[in-house]
Amino acid sequence: ALTFQRVQFVMGLPLLKRAIQEQAENTKNFVSWSLAIGEVLSVADMATGVKRGIIHWLFGGAVRNLGSPGHVTKWLQPLQGQKYTGMFAVTERGHGSDVRGIQTQATFGLSAQEFVIDTPCENAEKMFVGNAMRGNYAAVFAQLIINGRSQGPHCCTVPVRDENGSLYPGVTAVDTMYKDGLRGVDNGILIFCEVRIPRENLLDKFGSVAPDGRSPSPIKNKSARFNGMLAAPTPSRLAVTFQAMGATKLGLTIAIRYSHRTFSSSQTKTLYSLNTNCSSSPALPPALGNPPSVTEFD
Ligand SMILES: Cc1cc2nc3c(=O)[nH]c(=O)nc-3n(C[C@H](O)[C@H](O)[C@H](O)COP(=O)(O)OP(=O)(O)OC[C@H]3O[C@@H](n4cnc5c(N)ncnc54)[C@H](O)[C@@H]3O)c2cc1C
Repeated sequence: ALTFQRVQFVMGLPLLKRAIQEQAENTKNFVSWSLAIGEVLSVADMATGVKRGIIHWLFGGAVRNLGSPGHVTKWLQPLQGQKYTGMFAVTERGHGSDVRGIQTQATFGLSAQEFVIDTPCENAEKMFVGNAMRGNYAAVFAQLIINGRSQGPHCCTVPVRDENGSLYPGVTAVDTMYKDGLRGVDNGILIFCEVRIPRENLLDKFGSVAPDGRSPSPIKNKSARFNGMLAAPTPSRLAVTFQAMGATKLGLTIAIRYSHRTFSSSQTKTLYSLNTNCSSSPALPPALGNPPSVTEFD
């Protein structure tokens, strides 16, 4: 709960609101800008940085990179206003690196003009989902089934909880409890049983479904389409390395500070020189400040 309060606080800061606005507008520098913010947040509190990353980069990134301009307007603006929070559900119990083999299904129903989201077996349960115990909507990767045939993995926005935190019918969420080092992030398992979503919830930049069930795509080859879809969330993956850099800088600062106290000044000369290499990145926004440099602790 504390991490969630912190996430709500940082997401309300003008700097963070601007970051999501720039994400929506796809401005030139929004990726490097977001990565720098993520790094700084992770130095302050890793769980807050990760949870905010799940909501903005993973859920928001899926909408931004896999959806149409209409999806961006519909889903990103309320996210910016904290009307709801999101999750990203690609990994399954039986399919981690092997995303192509996922088994969750999004079956198109022509008469109702909707998709039915299903977890057909245990191996298809969505695993490790961050924000699973609080999030309202999930960007769910599933095999798109039309007329009984799979069109390959596609991504849809699926409602999981209402604004009061109650799960929608057909959705089960299982808490996987604490992880060392990231106790504030609620990872969990999501299971879907005949969850109905409107046709418009398919994020259809790479492949859409027309009202008559046709599935036009700007990329005809299914493999190339799949590769395009997976390439789109790459900045979100990069964010993990930036968060790791933030944690490394913090660890190094603590180590240098500790050694400075422990050893005499002649022995710390080498550590001083480390400081010139590991201090702030020029990409860090000045408003957030830079991580403390060792000389500040002299
Ligand atoms: C803390 C945490 C949070 C996460 N949050 C989310 C989330 O919010 N949403 C989500 O969808 N997922 C999430 N994940 C899941 C994460 O994306 C997967 O763990 C990752 O994709 C790897 O899948 P896996 O764990 O099943 O490993 P596997 O795919 O089983 O891989 C195990 C090992 O085998 C290697 N390997 C796999 N395939 C091959 C191959 N073909 N050739 C050679 N080597 C191979 C891998 O490199 C790895 O070393 C999270 C994971 C963690 C640990």
